[in-house]
Amino acid sequence: MNVYGMRAELGDQGAVKMWHMTKDGALTALCNRDLDPAAPVDHDSAWTHTKQPLCHTCGALYLRQVPYESMISG
Ligand SMILES: [Zn+2]
Repeated sequence: MNVYGMRAELGDQGAVKMWHMTKDGALTALCNRDLDPAAPVDHDSAWTHTKQPLCHTCGALYLRQVPYESMISG
């Protein structure tokens, strides 16, 4: 079972620059960007609700993988 979660990419001032999606608690996002272990995290269900910038590559990969995996594992 794959567990997805959001992890932030931080800008210069320590503010959230962009949210990425990670899998199984990895520090490397779906788009292959390495993220700071100290960066804020959020549940993947917040992906479609946040008003902060989202990584387009992570979004495309996440939305493509999740329905498929829930279909084959269910
Ligand atoms: Zn990303």
